Amino acid sequence: MVTETEREEMTWFQCDECGLLFDNADDAERHESNCASEDDPSYLQ
Ligand SMILES: [Zn+2]
Repeated sequence: MVTETEREEMTWFQCDECGLLFDNADDAERHESNCASEDDPSYLQ
């Protein structure tokens, strides 16, 4: 899921799966819905 967080007087949206930060909720949700780290970390190898 996406967590809203405040940093440097801005609101950011963080992907709980990989920790990426977005400045836009739509971008964060779109990323999160196809975040590759969700269930198969094998792509990191
Ligand atoms: Zn992610």
